[in-house]
Amino acid sequence: MEFCNSCFECENCFGCFGLRHKKFCILNKQYTEDEYWQKVDQLKCAMLDRGEYGDFPPMYHSTQYWSGSGASIIYGATQEECQKFGCANFAPGDDGAEGPEIDLSKIELIQTIPDRLDETNIGSLSGKPFRDEIFNRRFGYLKSELAFYQKMKIAPPRQHPTRRIQELYAEMNLAVCEEQYCQKCKKEIMVAKNKNYTERIVYCRDCYFQFLEQNG
Ligand SMILES: [Zn+2]
Repeated sequence: MEFCNSCFECENCFGCFGLRHKKFCILNKQYTEDEYWQKVDQLKCAMLDRGEYGDFPPMYHSTQYWSGSGASIIYGATQEECQKFGCANFAPGDDGAEGPEIDLSKIELIQTIPDRLDETNIGSLSGKPFRDEIFNRRFGYLKSELAFYQKMKIAPPRQHPTRRIQELYAEMNLAVCEEQYCQKCKKEIMVAKNKNYTERIVYCRDCYFQFLEQNG
């Protein structure tokens, strides 16, 4: 299994995604065993010649736009840095990707979404377009989703689902480390960066355990 993601119970696949119980597939296409080894050999030789084999697939192969890419979310790369590596630069709503154009004045304001749902507003809210003005994207609710919020007595979220996921990601540490000093013993330590919490109090392992013993 090489260059594969989310494949389960598979063997001898190359560049595949989301397969179950498969073998001899390349880019999710089925080949015979003989064809598979022949093609994989050709592919690996070409990749070795280009210096790509063993590395992550290049960014220009991705269909993802820069601000939704792992480079931006997990490594904190800027738009300029992403584009240097060939990342696509478009907005999610470009070229009608979010459906037909809608007169923005006809889209309900997010502020009209009630905190508490009952049977009547479940019917009137489902299937209606709303717009997250900060994220500049449209979204809607499913009836079953609204029924869940009502049952759990929670307010429906007022943000586009992707914005909610991106904000959750921003809570976690980036996969980028920086040198810092333990704020207690001043020892130099490597710490994962965090976009949201740039002014965190950071302790080394020993001081952190001491802190937990005293305060935990
Ligand atoms: Zn320390």
